[in-house]
Amino acid sequence: MSAKAVPARVCLMRCSDYSENEVAKAILKGLKIMNTEIHGRVVIKPNLVFAHAQKAPSAYTRPEVVAGLLEGIRGPDVSGVSIVEKSGVGVSTHVMFRRAGYRMLAERYGVDLCPLEEEEKRRVPLEQGRVHQSLLLSKKMLEADTLIFMPKLKSNVLAHGLTAALKLNIGSLDDRERMWHHDHLLDEKIVDILSVVYPQLVVSDAVEIAMGGNQMTEHGHALGLIILADNPLAHDLVAARLLHLDPADIGHLQAAIRRGFTPANPDEIEIIGDYPVEEIMAKTAGIATGMMRVEEFASPLKIRCGTPYCTGGCQGIFLDWLHMLKDRSPERLGRLPEIPVIIGQTEEEITAPRLLLIGDCAIRSLHLHGKRLEIAGCPPTHRDLILQMALKTRVLAPFVRADLIWDAYAIYPWRKWLKRRNRHQGEGDATEGPPWSS
Ligand code: SF4
Repeated sequence: MSAKAVPARVCLMRCSDYSENEVAKAILKGLKIMNTEIHGRVVIKPNLVFAHAQKAPSAYTRPEVVAGLLEGIRGPDVSGVSIVEKSGVGVSTHVMFRRAGYRMLAERYGVDLCPLEEEEKRRVPLEQGRVHQSLLLSKKMLEADTLIFMPKLKSNVLAHGLTAALKLNIGSLDDRERMWHHDHLLDEKIVDILSVVYPQLVVSDAVEIAMGGNQMTEHGHALGLIILADNPLAHDLVAARLLHLDPADIGHLQAAIRRGFTPANPDEIEIIGDYPVEEIMAKTAGIATGMMRVEEFASPLKIRCGTPYCTGGCQGIFLDWLHMLKDRSPERLGRLPEIPVIIGQTEEEITAPRLLLIGDCAIRSLHLHGKRLEIAGCPPTHRDLILQMALKTRVLAPFVRADLIWDAYAIYPWRKWLKRRNRHQGEGDATEGPPWSS
């Protein structure tokens, strides 16, 4: 798979709500305008990082949009469709397919729902990789005749404010490789993946966008838009503009451009469709993305950042955790203790009865005096952070609920065990050894 030449096309289609007819009509019209060749074995990659009716209802690709696409691509040219996804770290994709309502797609359209962690994989070398020398990827994705990305348009404080097509690719990795250098190198990591997992078509769910908070729990805003694009970078450059973000501030877009992906410039994109950019931007004006430095988040915690500052790592994940409280349990923010929180390595001399240290760099700080409450990891996963913050501060994140604890600590390990038991010992499917080795 390789990058397409310019001019790239991005099609903005009106879609007032998630009713089946409305979505199918908008996508069908968009597909006709785009006229992208869709054939053979099709693989769809949606965003199901997390879906939950009460706590995370707005930040995943809705099944109605996938159903609309399936209606649009039906025909003799398509021999089969698989939906491949890996939900957030420590979360079972099998469960997320159910929580997000995707089982209806399997029943109605006969598509395969494929949790990436349970799929057969192949290790692919990356000659030009900056972070990875190789990646373990889904065989179905690699062998697809047509790969279609279906992101949710939303803000994400781990990715300079924008989650769209390029960031979606993090969900092409299993947990171990996903967290490897999910730090200040996240932008280059995203481009490494793009170099081998490159979609022919992007169809984005922006009927309701999710903005202003944690990437999983943030609130929805009606926008009434479906975006189709034949180039993922063009898609993201336009998406940034629609959310009033400057592409120059979005590290992974700039990294992709530096490494030769096109278009390098928004002027090289042809914008088509029936929903004018200006009208969309008028609707998104004033909607916050939640992007800020973590020290600026208002709470009783006294947050201090050392080095490095990892937007995609410790600082970003802690900011995301704070946003999660604000999104779904804002009253709990005031219950946080007034203690210093150190993120990144610091040379400062800090004395306090208790200090909270987030991540391996903070733990390496030498001049901290007091009881050290440490949360290790580079970076810690959301799951670890939620658990450790509950134990150390007694402030529970909204995800601390019986049904989600059951999913994370019973269903997930059980399905992993099941997979290990059933796994074929095929070439390239081994997970022994460091994930970054070739
Ligand atoms: S431990 Fe945290 S701050 Fe240090 S490099 Fe890793 S992600 Fe960045």
